[in-house]
Amino acid sequence: MSLVTFKEIFPQARREKRAVGAFNVANYEGALGAIRAAESEKLPVIIQVYMRLFHSDKGADLAGTLLRMAQRCNQPVVIHLDHGESIEQVQKALEAGYSSVMYDGSRLPFEENLRITATASELAHRHGASMEGEIGHVAQGDDSVLTSVEEAIEFARGTHVDALAVSIGTAHGYYHTAPRIDHQRCQELSEALPELPLVLHGGTGTPLEDVRKAIEHGICKVNIATEYMDTFLKSTRRELEKLDGKFLPVDKMMDPVVDDCAAHAARLLRFFAGK
Ligand SMILES: [Zn+2]
Repeated sequence: MSLVTFKEIFPQARREKRAVGAFNVANYEGALGAIRAAESEKLPVIIQVYMRLFHSDKGADLAGTLLRMAQRCNQPVVIHLDHGESIEQVQKALEAGYSSVMYDGSRLPFEENLRITATASELAHRHGASMEGEIGHVAQGDDSVLTSVEEAIEFARGTHVDALAVSIGTAHGYYHTAPRIDHQRCQELSEALPELPLVLHGGTGTPLEDVRKAIEHGICKVNIATEYMDTFLKSTRRELEKLDGKFLPVDKMMDPVVDDCAAHAARLLRFFAGK
């Protein structure tokens, strides 16, 4: 049994200036890649499901598979809702057994974000799950707003989140031009909140030396969605081209895809852990 929450993995990571990789998955094979990577590297992993999958039954259906995988994994595994958009959605994920949830109110006015995140946080803790909130805004097809240190302090105090997503210059998706990371802001946030694990969204394409510095400044969770899913897509395309229209049972066709995902996740888990 190794389904855990942030509370079991982050305090030590924060002290040791390490981060844990959080990989977005939408199916069994993506999740299997992350689980294999955790076992091969002997490191914890976070498997997360984007809120869109909760617009249908996908998010809850997947939980059955993900929970079973976490429980049989010999390393700590967090099953996390990514960018939860409402209390109802957070509730849905908690009822499905997710051990951790995010509520993202980063587009809302400060007071409203604080109020809803605090409610979500209370709900998560009542379920024995951990809670991530976001202050400032990491661009998602819009513009970023850097996290203010004063707001971060007030937000953390008012919401009791277990991890805080901060905006320090990254953006979601692939970059068109290299991002400029505000390391000084990250350091100030880390010094102002020395106990609180910080989260870096928009890990895809962020230069690894920037990620390393950010980890030294309190980042404990690095989200990898786009590039991990892209590995899955590219690998699947390659396997289909090899088949050239011939039949192969789907599980066999997917085996090399899982290998590619596992190799990708392992490389990042190692790097985030400073190995
Ligand atoms: Zn994100």
